[in-house]
Amino acid sequence: MKGWVKALLLLASVSCTLFAEPALELEGQLTQGSLLRGKVLPGSKVFFNDIELPLSSDGRFVFGVGRDAPLKHQLKVQLNGEEHIKPLTFTARQYDIQHVNGVAQKYVTPPAEVTERIRRDNQQVRTVRKTVSGLPFIFDTPIMPAQGRISGVYGSQRVFNGEPRNPHYGLDVAAPVGAPVVAPLSGKVLLAEDLYYSGLTLIIDHGFGISSTFMHLSRFDVAVGDEIAQGQKIAEVGATGRVTGPHLDWRINWQQVRLDPALLPGLVLN
Ligand SMILES: [Zn+2]
Repeated sequence: MKGWVKALLLLASVSCTLFAEPALELEGQLTQGSLLRGKVLPGSKVFFNDIELPLSSDGRFVFGVGRDAPLKHQLKVQLNGEEHIKPLTFTARQYDIQHVNGVAQKYVTPPAEVTERIRRDNQQVRTVRKTVSGLPFIFDTPIMPAQGRISGVYGSQRVFNGEPRNPHYGLDVAAPVGAPVVAPLSGKVLLAEDLYYSGLTLIIDHGFGISSTFMHLSRFDVAVGDEIAQGQKIAEVGATGRVTGPHLDWRINWQQVRLDPALLPGLVLN
């Protein structure tokens, strides 16, 4: 009997509270491509797989896992000389395969003279995505940046004119050229450039290493360094770069880790 009660108590402690002390709250889906938000007692240290996460003054933090991430991870919380480990088991996702024909050949196999430009574009994007600021906006509830049908999803693999390409990491919203793009969360503009593949591209910092990228725009309404508010018009939908029609391609990154915008906690999809 004693052993049975002990087992029951152990089960209860595993399923009801993440651990007794200190409190750990987690928000988000434990699946590939997901962004998770958490909260611990202020003054704690939090590690995701041994990477120390920056904490807000009230103990909030954020992290995520990529499209093909392993399924076993852990959070480690240190407070007052004690250390608690919270194992995290993620679920695997199934991704769509999309065949896209009629893409201009120069985008399927870029001509040699643009390879240097593409390399510079990638370097520039990589650099701004390293930004880890203390902006607190990633802890707000996001809104959709454009109205329209969801025409492309995260993780899908595209086959352009019969040639398999890298997976697609954006959430695509079909909308006409000139349709407004609004900020899904407040932030600060990190990049506003015309890039080879993604056309007119805007990157916005929401804080703690999380950025939004908006691609294929026809016009910018903001410039690098601008501080923008959630819901503010920041750009217009376009068809610039490698596209078959006008749409907004919205991406979410945790520094270089590409996450699924559709899994942002609290987001209501179109
Ligand atoms: Zn897209």
